[in-house]
Amino acid sequence: MGLILEYIPEQEPAIFMLVQTRPVAVGNNQHGTNNSPFSENSYYSFIQISAWIARIAKKNPKLVSRIHIGNTFENRPMYLLKVGKPSGLKKAIFMDCGIHAREWISPSFCQWFLKETYGKDKNMTDILDNMNFYVLPVFNIDGYIWSWTQNRLWRKNRSTISNSSCVGVDLNRNFNVAWGTIDASKKPCDETYCGSSAESEPETRAVATFIRKQLSSIKAYLTMHSYSQMILFPYGYSYEKTMNHEELNEIAKGAVEAIESLYGKKYRHGTSAATIYPSSGCSDDWTYNQGIKYSFTFELRDKGKHGFLLPESEIKPTCEEIMLAVKFIANYILNLTD
Ligand SMILES: [Zn+2]
Repeated sequence: MGLILEYIPEQEPAIFMLVQTRPVAVGNNQHGTNNSPFSENSYYSFIQISAWIARIAKKNPKLVSRIHIGNTFENRPMYLLKVGKPSGLKKAIFMDCGIHAREWISPSFCQWFLKETYGKDKNMTDILDNMNFYVLPVFNIDGYIWSWTQNRLWRKNRSTISNSSCVGVDLNRNFNVAWGTIDASKKPCDETYCGSSAESEPETRAVATFIRKQLSSIKAYLTMHSYSQMILFPYGYSYEKTMNHEELNEIAKGAVEAIESLYGKKYRHGTSAATIYPSSGCSDDWTYNQGIKYSFTFELRDKGKHGFLLPESEIKPTCEEIMLAVKFIANYILNLTD
């Protein structure tokens, strides 16, 4: 780990921050400038991810467009990438990464996914002929930067709270679904502080507003977390089964089998409440109740040996196996008749 200077362009103009990271991470061109700029074996700072998002949209205008959906609490612009060939009304899958700051493997997967969409993968090309993806590479930008610069294990966003010296809301407790009821704290200093109200946070509002506008096309919602190796589906706020529980269970089972087929890693599957723990205000329950009947939460590697500090050597195999699960779900959605 070396100390390097990293320029933070938004919000704090002309401030250079000391950033502890790998000595190779910034200021060189080793990751390329074309369609595959990312090394498979590194985590990337938000500045690098942000520059890359802009670059791939500019270089691939026929396949990728960059959409501004709002700004974070610290006023950084939130961009998602729409991936797919423009042609009439198509089904879409919305995928976000990095809602929890410290889960670095999650943004790595969104980057991997985008990298894989550049035509070298035949199945992916077929999928993108018939479907769009909306990909939000880093949901919680302010928190992600904080996890790089100040506190590696930071989880929440960075909003300040009146009458409290504590900072941050758990964005995955801030959605308007059973808000503030289960495994969600009303105390600002807690890790699962759910905010002053549902959608109190600009990041949550930006995502929810975008999804509400696109409900007619979005058929599936995928949200990437770590760790514990699971594919989860609604509900989290109740032990009740959803209307299409058996179908969701079959899809999740197929997805975990696809994962295991590659490196033998076992992922569990089931409802959030029964498989990990009950929780409220979570994004996948909210999207499900908006009518997106194929909503899944992924918990990526590992099972706790390294936890949030997953070594960079595991980025590539994790992304490869998760890609198979995402493709499995995408193919399922494509084959739906309605
Ligand atoms: Zn998480």
